[in-house]
Amino acid sequence: MGFWEEQAKKHASQSDQPDQNRGKNPSYPKLAVVLITAVALFLFVTYGPLRGSSPATSVTLSSATQAIAAHHVASAVVDDQSQLLTLHLKNGTVEQTPFPYTYGTTLTKDLLASGAKVSASAAQGQNILISLLQLSFPVILIIAFLLYFMRKHGGLGVTRFSSGKDSAVKVPSTRFTDIAGSPEVVRELEEVVEFLHNPTRFTAAGARLPHGFLLVGPPGTGKTLLAQAVAGEAGVPFFALAGSDFVEAYVGVGAARVRTVFEKAKKAGRAIIFIDEIDAIGRSRSSGPTNAGQQEHENTLIALLSEMQGFSNHQIIILAATNRPDVLDRALTRPGRFDRTIEVPAPDRKARLDILRLHARGLRMDDAVNLESLARRTVGMTGADLSQLLNEAALESARRQESAISPGAVEAAYRVTTIGRERRSAALSEKDQRITAYHEAGHAVAALLLPDVENPVSVSIIPTGRAGGVTWMGGRDDNYSTKSQLLQELVVMLGGRAGEMCLLNGDFTQGAASDLKAATDQCTNMITRFGMGKSGMAVLEAGSHPFETMSKEVKAEVNEMIAEAFDRAKSLLRQHSGLHGEVATALLEREELSEQELCAIAERWLNDPVSKTADTGILSTQEAARN
Ligand code: ATP
Repeated sequence: MGFWEEQAKKHASQSDQPDQNRGKNPSYPKLAVVLITAVALFLFVTYGPLRGSSPATSVTLSSATQAIAAHHVASAVVDDQSQLLTLHLKNGTVEQTPFPYTYGTTLTKDLLASGAKVSASAAQGQNILISLLQLSFPVILIIAFLLYFMRKHGGLGVTRFSSGKDSAVKVPSTRFTDIAGSPEVVRELEEVVEFLHNPTRFTAAGARLPHGFLLVGPPGTGKTLLAQAVAGEAGVPFFALAGSDFVEAYVGVGAARVRTVFEKAKKAGRAIIFIDEIDAIGRSRSSGPTNAGQQEHENTLIALLSEMQGFSNHQIIILAATNRPDVLDRALTRPGRFDRTIEVPAPDRKARLDILRLHARGLRMDDAVNLESLARRTVGMTGADLSQLLNEAALESARRQESAISPGAVEAAYRVTTIGRERRSAALSEKDQRITAYHEAGHAVAALLLPDVENPVSVSIIPTGRAGGVTWMGGRDDNYSTKSQLLQELVVMLGGRAGEMCLLNGDFTQGAASDLKAATDQCTNMITRFGMGKSGMAVLEAGSHPFETMSKEVKAEVNEMIAEAFDRAKSLLRQHSGLHGEVATALLEREELSEQELCAIAERWLNDPVSKTADTGILSTQEAARN
């Protein structure tokens, strides 16, 4: 059910990055002053003293008509255009009321009949000024907006701008000691720091240090952090940009931004420019016809290339990050540009432990928390994931009102970040619980029995995230997987469905969907990429392998490989039905079993030859179904 679920998605916290940009842009206050003045002027003109020479009391139309009928009106202004009637009464007061469309003629007749002096509209001189200002107000607003836009985006013909992300000149406080698990990368970047500190050491020997470094690695592996640390160690300003900042719908904006950033860096003399997601601007240019978007993208790329060409006299280093170096334009990676590539891989077990230790330093951790075991179980997690996991543990610990972060809080955080929150209150029928227990026990027993698969760290039938139960595997850090290892992992993946069949007389549920997906992916890779199938060693399909696009032969082989592994899983559980049954029963009683508890049960069964063949009743029903 939850077995072989995807590892936690990246929720990299960017909180450590210096917030260089907020509140630094001087154009915002200026614009605010212009807008406030314009609005104040508008209100003044519309409602202020210019509007009328004497303050008029607002009255209802019926009260106005009564005053007319009672001959109280000395003079009146009937403004048909704005449908406004102004009455100057004989007692000196002025009253005003709006009147309905076309009613002006009737009012004029009544006023003339009452003997009042009538004029057709308000004082014209005053209205022309008001109307002019009222008409020009929207125009002023549009011009202000355009000015703001041009300043912000540097576009529409304006090549200088000061705004947003790139404007701040700040030396970060990050140091190499804030980075764990990447000693080789740090060593390589120390040379950059040395160059910024002491350029003559390099130039005296006639050497030219590369000024473009490409940091290549998956998201969350600390590329931004490394770039900040280089600037921090060298004590130089750090200009950070994301490639997506340049991808604008307006032609010329991206190129203008590139020029502005380089200008600022040149002004600073020594600087680090960091371009995150460089693939967003650095994708290889197309040779065919281009649309406006591609044209803009190419202009930006060309601007970047020419700027990189032109600053050899400055101590400016550009660090760019990407996880798609394959899509970069070759002009970007040629000597003189990004000619040094530094791999920043996802951390291995030791690196994960170092990162966990580093982030745990700032937290109050219970001594019982085993970071080694956590590092072992977090295969595939990046530095960002690990820092998020520990933060989640701290939050969980606070929720539990603990004085120090306990192993329980860390375990809960691990589960939340990998599969999701436990749903202990989910109402499960007894039947569902039994199916889950046999399913998870199937995975666990297969893993315990197969020699090249790590033991499960724990098994649980507590609904977690979208899964009914979970078998938490230990995880393997080896770079290489043998065919035999991969096939054994496949058997473990299919152990869940095999386990259900033991309980349900050969029947099964939909609960193995995610296991089957993982198994299909694994077999597909083995056959089409790793040369581990019967079809031979040729790489059969490039890129990703959606099942529906595969050739008939590959599909048949994937199915065959899955079927063989499934048969192995079924026969393993049949052979060790006693062990399977006991693990399932223990799960139903305790809901969760640790690695030690699982091993204790397994040892009891495997060391006792009688027990090995003991029949819990499951074997016979399963056999019956098979026959
Ligand atoms: P992206 O490619 O998504 O921009 P990134 O590779 O630039 O990600 P960072 O933004 O540098 O990753 O990392 C995010 C956070 O993860 C850091 O602020 C830090 O807390 C943590 N982190 C990542 N790698 C490490 C590491 N090697 N050591 C310590 N902390 C790390």
